[in-house]
Amino acid sequence: MDKKAILEQIEKNVKMCQKCRLYKTAKHGVPGEGNIESEIVFIGEAPGQMEDETGRPFVGRAGKLLEALLKEIGYTREDVWIGNIIKHRPPENRDPLPDEIAACEPYLAMQLKAMEPLMVITLGRFAMNYFYSDGRITRDRGRLIKIAGFNVYPVYHPAAALRNPQMALGLKEDFLKIPTVLKYIKEDLQKPDGSTDLLQENKDQIGLGL
Ligand code: SF4
Repeated sequence: MDKKAILEQIEKNVKMCQKCRLYKTAKHGVPGEGNIESEIVFIGEAPGQMEDETGRPFVGRAGKLLEALLKEIGYTREDVWIGNIIKHRPPENRDPLPDEIAACEPYLAMQLKAMEPLMVITLGRFAMNYFYSDGRITRDRGRLIKIAGFNVYPVYHPAAALRNPQMALGLKEDFLKIPTVLKYIKEDLQKPDGSTDLLQENKDQIGLGL
């Protein structure tokens, strides 16, 4: 199967999935969407109310902020792929439970394996901890972490930035660095002059169902 067929199959499986309790209270599965050839993918936590209504990721206010930030660096949302770790909305946007994460994470692992993006931008603490369980968002955001074969770049969640002006500034600052970080990755992760904190090496695979 080619990449497109694999991703379409995953999408179908998500929409029919009953592997955890979340499908019972959600209206739609939200598998993720966008350019499957993109060098960059964005990964959030789980669908919210608008995403549940539409079956599409990041379509509410947080999504609008994400689109505005993408525009600042010369991208549209159609240029990149956007998804979540959890594919059905947890009731009242509660945190996903460990068994729900365990049930759902293979879908994202398969999606990433099929797309092989150069850069995985995690939105918020939860998505960062999926790749890097010891991560602290306030410490690690805006820094490149190489883990399990992925170049992971954590940033604040746009929803958090909407509530907190300091986080909004931090999110924008980290977004503006994305083109430089991507260039850095393309240059075979050669350490650029003067950079001391762009890259953290971590070989753990915690949280990755690969
Ligand atoms: S949240 Fe994930 S594991 Fe649970 S039913 Fe939905 S797709 Fe399946």
